[in-house]
Amino acid sequence: MDKTRRSFIQLAGITALAASGSKALAADQPPETLPPENPLTGNRWAMVIDLKKCQKQNGCTACSDACHYVHNVPDIPIERQEVKWIWKEDFKAAFPNQEHEYLQRDLPEKDVLVFCNQCENPPCVRVCPTKATWKREDGIVMMDMHRCIGCRYCVVACPYGSRSFNWGDPHDHIRKINPHYPTRKKGVVEKCTFCEERLAKGLLPACVEACPVKAMTFGDLSDDNSEVRRLLRERYTIRRKPGLGTNPNIYYIV
Ligand code: SF4
Repeated sequence: MDKTRRSFIQLAGITALAASGSKALAADQPPETLPPENPLTGNRWAMVIDLKKCQKQNGCTACSDACHYVHNVPDIPIERQEVKWIWKEDFKAAFPNQEHEYLQRDLPEKDVLVFCNQCENPPCVRVCPTKATWKREDGIVMMDMHRCIGCRYCVVACPYGSRSFNWGDPHDHIRKINPHYPTRKKGVVEKCTFCEERLAKGLLPACVEACPVKAMTFGDLSDDNSEVRRLLRERYTIRRKPGLGTNPNIYYIV
């Protein structure tokens, strides 16, 4: 086990024990999260992405650069071994059967931002045999890389390709390690968790903060006055593969 990961586990274990009054962690339960001081709280977190704003920034990678640095995501040059939390994908592949003649004319020719949809009905959670992935009450689909046994059932179950598997040791491909977030090891799955560690500190997701044109809006769908709800009321939005019944919490303004 690498030093960074070992230190993180030790620190998390000590703090969790202190916070829970030495309550033992049941083997079939996800780990408890620590009580934060000024967290952002919500009942159903969601993201609205304005594709027109995003696509005006041709070649911009500010969001993925920020996300991948903050979360120690390795930059692996072999395509089939890539690890990605947020990336750009061809519109037609991301939104099959969503084209119609009135859609923004050049949209189908462009790439769109994609990441975990934080699905309301996540098939990845249903298939995980160790509860390494689970859905929180606020809708975030969590991932405990320490509990993951690398079976990759979740990778197969996710219909959006939002999960990555570490085929090798990722450490050699991390450009600069962020000491405030754990690294992973060979044989575990990882994905976006809506920056739950930043929300716990009262911070917005790193991608939202990094976007130079404010194309990404994060907020609580259960709050009628939230900015995400205003956008959904006033703008035309689509979601990825809505017919699958996963009920994604990522919306795209087109
Ligand atoms: Fe799970 Fe994939 Fe949905 Fe994310 S997008 S919650 S990984 S099924």
